[in-house]
Amino acid sequence: MKLPTDPAANLATLIRCASVTPAEGGALAALEGMLKPLGFSVERPVFSEDGTPDIENLYARRSGNGPHLMFAGHTDVVPVGDEASWTHPPFAAEIAKGEMYGRGAVDMKGGIACFIAAVARHVENKGGPKGSVSLLITGDEEGPAINGTTKLLDWAAAKGEKWDASIVGEPTNPDALGDMIKIGRRGSMSGSVTVNGRQGHVAYPLLADNPVRGLMSLVEALLHPVFDKGTRDFQPTNLEVTSIDVGNPATNVIPAKATATFNIRFNDTWTAETVQAEIHNRLDQAAKRKKYRTGKKTPVDYELVWRDRPSHVFLTRDDKLIDTLRGSIKAAVGKEPALSTSGGTSDARFIKDYCPVVEFGLVGKTMHMVDERVALADLETLTQIYQRFIEDWFEQG
Ligand SMILES: [Zn+2]
Repeated sequence: MKLPTDPAANLATLIRCASVTPAEGGALAALEGMLKPLGFSVERPVFSEDGTPDIENLYARRSGNGPHLMFAGHTDVVPVGDEASWTHPPFAAEIAKGEMYGRGAVDMKGGIACFIAAVARHVENKGGPKGSVSLLITGDEEGPAINGTTKLLDWAAAKGEKWDASIVGEPTNPDALGDMIKIGRRGSMSGSVTVNGRQGHVAYPLLADNPVRGLMSLVEALLHPVFDKGTRDFQPTNLEVTSIDVGNPATNVIPAKATATFNIRFNDTWTAETVQAEIHNRLDQAAKRKKYRTGKKTPVDYELVWRDRPSHVFLTRDDKLIDTLRGSIKAAVGKEPALSTSGGTSDARFIKDYCPVVEFGLVGKTMHMVDERVALADLETLTQIYQRFIEDWFEQG
């Protein structure tokens, strides 16, 4: 039987499955078809929750005697956008000038295709890793991410699965393969501040209490001073005001309420709890200021609501994992990758609660864009990097 050793062939199969989130689109079935001949046992649990689409996921394990490496990723893809704008159809996996086109080519069916090819080559040439390898693949990374990785991790852990290290195959390289390993992420939280005022006539401001004036002081306090200057491993903490809403169509009416919404990306100077306390404190202090509220005796009457659960900041410190991956990258591309904590959140934020995790995959330039595509040469190089990593990581026991 021909093993799935060719990453381009694996990727073409996956791209031809139109798995736009939340649809499975045949992608997990295709993965199962590739993994079973390699000796993986494959399960495809479906998770549900009220108000969200049911999601099919995949957990595959090739059991051995030794440490347990988990590769994590997703087969769902973002919508294609304007299909007519694509140079090659988004689900055809056409190749032109050494590049394969298709939605998910880099984010992140390509990473999965390379990892499977790496394992297949190991199985073909060396009989497979002596430890255990598993793939934890969700169909819900680009969607609400509720019936995906978190539940899949809980489900697998409840069955007794334990992992020693994990690689997430998201496209981490900004320009060229080998640029960057992600070894952590900033935390993230969103909130909204609503100021309660008193509606009235603009010509009689003292009879009213304009909430926009109060909100200006509060927003100023959110933005200034800076939270920190960054740390050795992280960019400075940054807060962005994402919306200011009053919804008042009348120019002669002072409105009753005004709301500002914000998101903060915070580094390891903080925890979610200390960020929340800092923001509360800033707002309380600002509420007493009279800068924009001359003639008012009471502090600004505001409410702060935190949205969703916070994503916690994390930094992976695992020398075996990081150094082995660095070495594999250097051997393939001849340069040292940067270790970075930049960018948005990923499913690594859930995996870090179970085992050390890093992210390394393809070049992200075209992800989520029209004409998403990957160089065939990159598929081959990433496969070699993963293969070398698997050999060296298991070799160390
Ligand atoms: Zn992705």
